[in-house]
Amino acid sequence: MAFWTEGAFYSLTPLQCPTPMCSKAPVLPGRSVNTAPYDGVMSELIDLHTHSTASDGSDSPGEVIAAAAKAGIHTVALTDHDTVSGWAEATEAATALDVGLIPGIELSTQVFDEDNGFEPHSVHLLGYLIDPTHPQLVEEMAKIRSHRDNRLQMMVEKLAKDFPISWLEVRAGIPDGATPGRPHIAEVLIAKGIVKDTTEAFQHILAGDGPYHVPHYAPTLETGIRIIREAGGVPVLAHPLSRGGTPLTDVRGPVEEAVTRYQRWWELGLMGVELHHRENVPEQRPALEEVAGTLGLIVTGSSDYHGSKKPNPLGEHTTTPEALREILERSSGVRPIGAMPAGV
Ligand SMILES: [Zn+2]
Ligand SMILES: [Zn+2]
Repeated sequence: MAFWTEGAFYSLTPLQCPTPMCSKAPVLPGRSVNTAPYDGVMSELIDLHTHSTASDGSDSPGEVIAAAAKAGIHTVALTDHDTVSGWAEATEAATALDVGLIPGIELSTQVFDEDNGFEPHSVHLLGYLIDPTHPQLVEEMAKIRSHRDNRLQMMVEKLAKDFPISWLEVRAGIPDGATPGRPHIAEVLIAKGIVKDTTEAFQHILAGDGPYHVPHYAPTLETGIRIIREAGGVPVLAHPLSRGGTPLTDVRGPVEEAVTRYQRWWELGLMGVELHHRENVPEQRPALEEVAGTLGLIVTGSSDYHGSKKPNPLGEHTTTPEALREILERSSGVRPIGAMPAGV
């Protein structure tokens, strides 16, 4: 197994080399030579996008790590929405279960379509290895969360005029430290038999353009990228082609235009794109890959695991060791926890 510590690659030396993967071990001058970095048991899968009960997943942070170990994931990133409150528990579990952990976040941001009346579009931004104590990041996370909390209460108050539901009931179902979201309202609606399941809740009662919707605060994508960079993290655009993307982050039309569109984010400090993700429409993926290649953006892939809250299984899409190595090299916030796969 390989360890990444303070910018240097270290390796342990298991006794045997059972597979051809062993030969892939990088050897740095002056370091002990690892002839058998791959132990033949632990896979090298890297999944850089998961959620726990710290936001809207169903597994506690420790359970996410345990599920990753069970699924044969070597290294996993915990990227809860707008919070790092799951990091401590995840770190403990990762250390105990010998799973590599990339501490991260998924920041809620928005872009405004200048050509279309400044219509807002929600964009998710992953931030890896950020310094969680960076004052501006802390402030922004608190602001997003407090607005989301109040907004949720406002939505429930609107709903209470038509349905037997109260804020107290919804609040009771939100675990401490979790990011309150519409799924928490959905849970109460399901429990009361008002809707059949989450899908039905989101199609009608909780729809973004529905009568009970209350918009929430989110920083602009520009601000999100800047804050993650200032906190020493690596900003990666999450599922940019989800439902086809937004007019400012999709890759429709001639690829040169898509490059120009992305050049703006790249100049602001964007470092990567989550290309391999179930929500990215397949027909636009080749163009996004070309854009990433042209601008030198890191390409990642991940599951966006939410436990039982979404069907995405861990390791559904994965990231290459080369891409993870680049993320490690370009970050200066916190270091990853534990073992990193061979080739990283
Ligand atoms: Zn997302
Ligand atoms: Zn996510």
